[in-house]
Amino acid sequence: MNNADITFDAKHIWHPYTSMSQPIPAYPIVEAQGVELVMPDGKRLIDGMSSWWAAIHGYNHPELNQAVTTQLSKMSHVMFGGITHPPAVNLCKQLVTITPEPLECIFLADSGSVAVEVALKMALQYWQAKGEKRQRILTLRHGYHGDTFGAMAVCDPDNSMHGLYKGYLPPHVFVEAPQCGFNDEWNPADLHPLEAQLAENSHEIAAIILEPIVQGAGGMRIYHPAYLKGVRDLCDHYGLLLIADEIATGFGRTGKLFACQHANISPDIMCIGKALTGGYMTLSATLTTRHVAETISNGEAGCFMHGPTFMGNPLACAVADASLSLLLNSPWQQTIANIELQLKAELMPLRSHPSVADIRVLGAIGVIEMKQPVDTAALQKVFVENGVWVRPFGKLIYVMPPYIITPEQLSKVTNTMAKVLG
Ligand SMILES: *Cc1c(COP(=O)(O)O)cnc(C)c1O
Repeated sequence: MNNADITFDAKHIWHPYTSMSQPIPAYPIVEAQGVELVMPDGKRLIDGMSSWWAAIHGYNHPELNQAVTTQLSKMSHVMFGGITHPPAVNLCKQLVTITPEPLECIFLADSGSVAVEVALKMALQYWQAKGEKRQRILTLRHGYHGDTFGAMAVCDPDNSMHGLYKGYLPPHVFVEAPQCGFNDEWNPADLHPLEAQLAENSHEIAAIILEPIVQGAGGMRIYHPAYLKGVRDLCDHYGLLLIADEIATGFGRTGKLFACQHANISPDIMCIGKALTGGYMTLSATLTTRHVAETISNGEAGCFMHGPTFMGNPLACAVADASLSLLLNSPWQQTIANIELQLKAELMPLRSHPSVADIRVLGAIGVIEMKQPVDTAALQKVFVENGVWVRPFGKLIYVMPPYIITPEQLSKVTNTMAKVLG
C-alpha cells in the first residue's frame, strides 16, 4: 500500500462512524500474525482490541487457517434452504452443548445486528402465535445491540442518536441502567426502575433485551450479577421473554464462557457473534428454547420468517467450529483469569490520575473511563507511535486483547494506556 492508496481510501471508502469529508486517519495494515498487526513498512502493533472482541485466538492461527482451507477445497458456499452440510451441523452440535441448557434451536445469521433482528422477530412472532398483541421491547439505557433498524431501536436513545431517525424507529421502553458495579455491594434498589416499569406496562411488552453483565459499545459498563438474576426473575414473574445479547461477552471474554453464567441464569433467546469465528469472518447465531421455537412454528405463519442468502455459510461455520474447539481445548479460564489479574494490577493504580473518572476490569476487558471525551485520532497516533493498537471512543480508553497475548505484550499495552493519559 502506497500513499496514493491511502489517499484513495480517504476519498472513496467509508469507515465505521467516520466522516467522508473530514475522515480521521485510517492506518494501513497488510498482515496480522499472532497478537500483532503489521504495517507496510514492517512496523508491528500489539493488538489491544481483538478487532472489536472477535480475534480471541490472535491472527493467522494455523488451526483456523487449516479449517478454512480444508472447507474451501470442498465447498465455500451452498444455499441453506432445503440443504444442510457438515460444517453447520458440527458447529450447532457444539453450540447446543456449551450454551445454557434450555437453548437448543439455532438460527444462523450473518452478523451480530442480524442476530438481534432475528431475536426481536422471534419475540414478536412468539406473542403473535399466542394470540397476544405485544410489540414493545423493554431495554436498558446505555445498551448497544447493533446498527440495523430493529437493533438500533433498542440501543441507548442518546448514544445512538435516535433523534436522527425520529419517526422511523418503533418506540420501545427504556429503563435506567443498573448502577451497582460488578464488585460493589448489591443494592436491590437497582431493580426499582425496571420493577416500576413492568408493574405499569408489562402487558404490552414482548421481551426484555439486554447485554448480560457488560454493556459494551454503549459505555463499557460492568454491572452486578444480582441485577441480571433479578431481571430473569421479573421475566418469569410477568411471563416475558428474556433476550441475552452475548455478541460481545460470549466465548470467555468476561471470565465465564457466557456472561449469563455469572448470574447462573439462562435466557429464552441468546444472540452470539463477534468471537464466534475467532474473528475470521462474519457469522452470528440466535439460539432459543424448544418452547419458543415450537410456539412460533405452531403460529399463523407456520414457520419463522427469516432466511438470509448466506445463511449457514460453510466456510464461516467450519472456522467457527474450529475456533470453539480451540477455545474449549485450551485452559481458557486460567488464561483469562491471568489477564484479569494483570489488567487489575496495571490499570487500577491509574485511578488516582486527575483526568480519570473510573477504572473497570472484568475477565479480559480493561476500561479507563475519562472525565472528558478523548481525541480519538490524537490518542490513536500516540498508541501507534508506541507500537500498540487501541481505538478509544467517547470517554473510554479500553482494551480486550486476544487471549494469547503474553504478559510482556499486555504490559506494553497498559503502559501505553498510562502514557496517553499524560
Ligand atoms: C457488536 C455488537 C452487535 C452488532 O454486531 P455486528 O456484527 O457489528 O452487527 C450487537 N450487540 C452487541 C452487544 C455488540 O457488541
